[in-house]
Amino acid sequence: MTVLETVKQRVRKTFNNHCAYCLSAQQYLMQVLEIDHITPIAKGGTNDEDNLCLACRLCNLYKSNHTHSIDSETNQMTPLFNPRTDKWTQHFRWSQDGFRVIGLTAVGRVTIKVLRLNNETAILTRTNWVSVGWHPPK
Ligand SMILES: [Zn+2]
Repeated sequence: MTVLETVKQRVRKTFNNHCAYCLSAQQYLMQVLEIDHITPIAKGGTNDEDNLCLACRLCNLYKSNHTHSIDSETNQMTPLFNPRTDKWTQHFRWSQDGFRVIGLTAVGRVTIKVLRLNNETAILTRTNWVSVGWHPPK
């Protein structure tokens, strides 16, 4: 079953046209931000609005069907960041130069690892965004 267009529009609005994970703004991307199932359909997730968020192509691609991972600091199986129930600033912050996402918690660290939030493309793009004042987001 596909997600209704009206629901997609509400999700876009809820996440203010930003990727819920790396916070990339739609206005700076050549691709349309995608609807992500926070708990993947393959893992029992639904099309309910509270299971949907907005994600960029790379975050969605790397997240795939993952829901948890082992945090290297605590050695604990840890859930990925849930954009509906978790607050971004509680789990992440930007590096001083704005190029990298820093994990503040186990949830933040596993999400950075699984979604590769500091992949080469992201860092190069953020470097350019910083140079023109587009990043980090306010
Ligand atoms: Zn993203």
